[in-house]
Amino acid sequence: MTDSRSDCLFCKIVTGEVPAEIVREGERTVAFRDINPQAPTHVLIIPREHYPDMVSAGAAGVGLLDEIAREAGEIARAEGIAESGYRMVFNTGPAAGQTVFHLHGHLLGGRGMEWPPG
Ligand code: 5GP
Repeated sequence: MTDSRSDCLFCKIVTGEVPAEIVREGERTVAFRDINPQAPTHVLIIPREHYPDMVSAGAAGVGLLDEIAREAGEIARAEGIAESGYRMVFNTGPAAGQTVFHLHGHLLGGRGMEWPPG
C-alpha cells in the first residue's frame, strides 16, 4: 500500500498525475529526469511511498535507501556514466537546498564535478 500525499508533487509523479520523463521504474522506486538538469545526466530517484527526506526513510528501516543505491547503479550503467563516476546528492532541509519534501536522490553525471559542492 503506497502512502501518497495529495499535496506532494513527487507523489503526483508516482501516480502519473504530473507528467515526468520516467527513466526506470522499480517495485518501490521511480526514477525520472530532473526538469532543470544540472548535468548531462540528472535523474531523481524517489520511493513510491512518501517519506519527507532521507532521515525519515532511514529511520523507518525498510531498506529504501539500499534500493535507491541499487537503482542508481543500474541507471548509471544504462546512462553510460558508471565508469567515469557520478554523484548522488540528498539535499536534506531547506538550508541545504531541499525544495521538495519527498525523499529524492539526485544522480548527477556526464561532466566533471567539483569539491566542495556549493
Ligand atoms: P531539491 O531542491 O528538493 O533537492 O530537488 C528538487 C528537484 O526537483 C530540483 O532539482 C527541481 O529541478 C526538480 N523538480 C521540481 N519540480 C519538478 C517537476 O515538476 N518535474 C521534475 N521532473 N523535476 C522537478
